[in-house]
This record gives sequence, structure tokens and C-alpha cells, in this order.
Amino acid sequence: MDLARPRGTEDVFPEAAARWRALEAVCHGLARRYGYGELRTPTFEHSEVFHRFLGDATDVVQKETYDFKDRGERELTLRPEGTAGAVRAFLQAGLQGGALPRKLCYVTLSAFRYERPQAGRLREHHQFGCEAFGSADPTTDAELIALVADLLRELGVRDFAVRLNSIGDPACRPAYLEALRDYYRPLLPGLCHDCQVRFDHNPLRLLDCKKDREAVAGAPRPADHLCADCAAHFATLRGYLDDIGIDHTIDHTLVRGFDYYTRTVFEFVSGELGAQNSILGGGRYDGLVESMGGPPVPAAGFAVGMERLLTVASTLAAPDPALDVYVASDDRREALAACQALRRAGLAADMDPLSRSLRAQMRAADRSGASVAVIRAAPERERGVAVVRPLRSPGAAQREVAWTALLADPRDQVGA
Ligand SMILES: [Zn+2]
Ligand SMILES: [Zn+2]
Repeated sequence: MDLARPRGTEDVFPEAAARWRALEAVCHGLARRYGYGELRTPTFEHSEVFHRFLGDATDVVQKETYDFKDRGERELTLRPEGTAGAVRAFLQAGLQGGALPRKLCYVTLSAFRYERPQAGRLREHHQFGCEAFGSADPTTDAELIALVADLLRELGVRDFAVRLNSIGDPACRPAYLEALRDYYRPLLPGLCHDCQVRFDHNPLRLLDCKKDREAVAGAPRPADHLCADCAAHFATLRGYLDDIGIDHTIDHTLVRGFDYYTRTVFEFVSGELGAQNSILGGGRYDGLVESMGGPPVPAAGFAVGMERLLTVASTLAAPDPALDVYVASDDRREALAACQALRRAGLAADMDPLSRSLRAQMRAADRSGASVAVIRAAPERERGVAVVRPLRSPGAAQREVAWTALLADPRDQVGA
């Protein structure tokens, strides 16, 4: 048909939306427990916001953004993630001059990337993320990791593991990158095309290569080249994680490509996802606020695709039934009056607007998920009553209630 939704987007109908709301409630609840307040930023920003965040144009992420010009010839971009907008908002509100740390989160943030939908990834997807601004202390890193662990536990994901690494900072990384290049230089001719590009533009990402595993295995490790401050930060973080009972392993190949990433990198993986087993990543980006034009403000955070959380979640609470009371009547005016009384009393009530037979209306009542049907036809009308029939409790008897009482005090009369 002509009016199909664009590729890589989804329609969410009420049954699925109820699961989304349950997931959102879990995210909001965790953010609150950990002291992260909700930030909502625009769906699009000036393109520059993301260009600074995503780095130079050789990076594939940069080529996946939705860029457009508005009618005023401004260059705008649909956000591909949440962090850049959060930093922009933080700076624009002058929060760097206020009380720090400032802990912000976003829930169901829509993010846009022009990717091949075959890869199972959507062009519009949604993220939950937390960003802590103004703390370089490893307690902040530990807290973010603990938040994610709680999130997965609360969603019923039992089989997950935490991988951790430290990639140093501007004090120690240049020397490390030199050592890395020295190691890779003689190997380059035998390596994949991506590695050739990374060697020049983004050497840390050489450790990311899934093809040249042998080269990666012998490479110098970031954690072995940390300066004293970075080494202390890493050791302290690991001690904190042990203190609060979070098992973790060091993954020496876990890296982030951009210069503003510093020290902590973490990733949660799960066997429940098969081959594509990384659930989410996060870490520290002490250089980001400065790289986006602000003063030096240390920061750390994570983001996770919520569609992915929905696929791994096993414990999301069953949604409330759509309906509490179905009003079946041969008189639509009466049915509407009863529905309105029930709705004003806080109950979800519905009726048949199509004038179908009472028998058809009772079938609709059964299908609706309502716990009670209110029935009113000629025999009831003659006696001034309505029948209240339980639909979900087998064996419970139906009873009659006075029609005027039903309208005056609907909650009591239907037993809700
Ligand atoms: Zn490679
Ligand atoms: Zn360092």
C-alpha cells in the first residue's frame, strides 16, 4: 500500500505499549533510586552538536545520521543518541556553574540512525541512559554499573556479565598509542581494511577488530600503560565493585574510539542474546564537555537500547486489563449514562456503540477483559435494576443492583 510506515520504524499497539510502560516504570524507578533526574531534550539539534560528539566524518556513525536543512537553511540532525544533546543542554543551562555533580537521565529517548534494517536494528529506536556530570570519582563509575546490574536483575535477566577496562587519559594515552602503533606497523599489510583505516585515524579501535584476532591478542594492553592516577582510579573502581558485590572481568580489548573517552569503559553482555551478546555499554568521558565548548567537567554514563531490553526482559509486570466494566444494554442512552458514572468513579468502562444484540454485546464483554458486566434490558428496566455479572471469577453469582444506586455510587455497586 502507499501509506506504509518507513523502513526501520515500528508501530506499537496497546498490548505492546503496556510492556513499554512497564519497562519505562522500571527505568524511572531505578533512576530515582540512584538520584538521576529526568532530562528531555529536542529530537533534533544543530548538526554541529553531533559532529563534535561523533568525531570526524570517516567514522561510520557519522554517515548514518539523518541530516536535513530546514526552511531557514539551518543544518539540523535527528539525534542518533542522547549524550550529545544532554551535554548541549547542560552547558546551555549553565549547569557547570551550579551544584555538581548533576545526575541526569533520559527514558524512551527516540534515536535515529540510517542503518540497514536487516541487521535487526531500527532506524528509529529508543534509549534509556544516565549521565553524571561533575564527578571524576570512581564511586560514580561504580554506581552507574550497579544501576545497570539492578536494571537487568529487575528485568529478570539472570545470565549477564560485566566487562571492564581502562583506556587511560590524555596524560598516558599518547604514549600507549605510540606503543600500539609500533606493535601494529609491521603487521599492517596482513590486516583488514578497517584496521588500515583505524591505524591512521583511530588506533585504539584496532583492538575492536573481530577479524584480526591474532593481532589483537598480542597487542599491548591499555591497562598496562596507565599513569599513576589512572591506575589508582581503575584499582579503586574495581575495589568498589567488589565491595558492593558486582562480579566483573577485565576485557583488554574493550575500548571507545574518541579522544574524550577516558579511563573507565564497561560493557554488559548476556548469553541470552546469542551471538549479538552485548546488551549495553558505558564509561567515562571526562573530555567531552570541554570538547563541546564547555569548561573541563568530568562525566560518565551509559545508554541502552530499550527495544533490546524488551527482548531480554522476562519479568515485566502484566499490564492492567484494558477494561474494568462492560455495560451491555439495549438502550445506548442508558449505557452511556452508566459508562460515564463508572468512568468518573475512576473505572475503565465501555459499551457497544453499534446497537448489536445483547448476546453479541455479552460476547464483546467476554473478549474485552473486563472483570464485570453491567446488563440492562427491558426486564431489568421494569424492576428499576441492572444485573452485575462477574466475568473473571468462575462460580461468583450475578446479582441485581438498583439502577439509581448504580449511577450514584458505581464503584460500590459493581464491587470494584
Ligand atoms: Zn582488522
Ligand atoms: Zn592516565
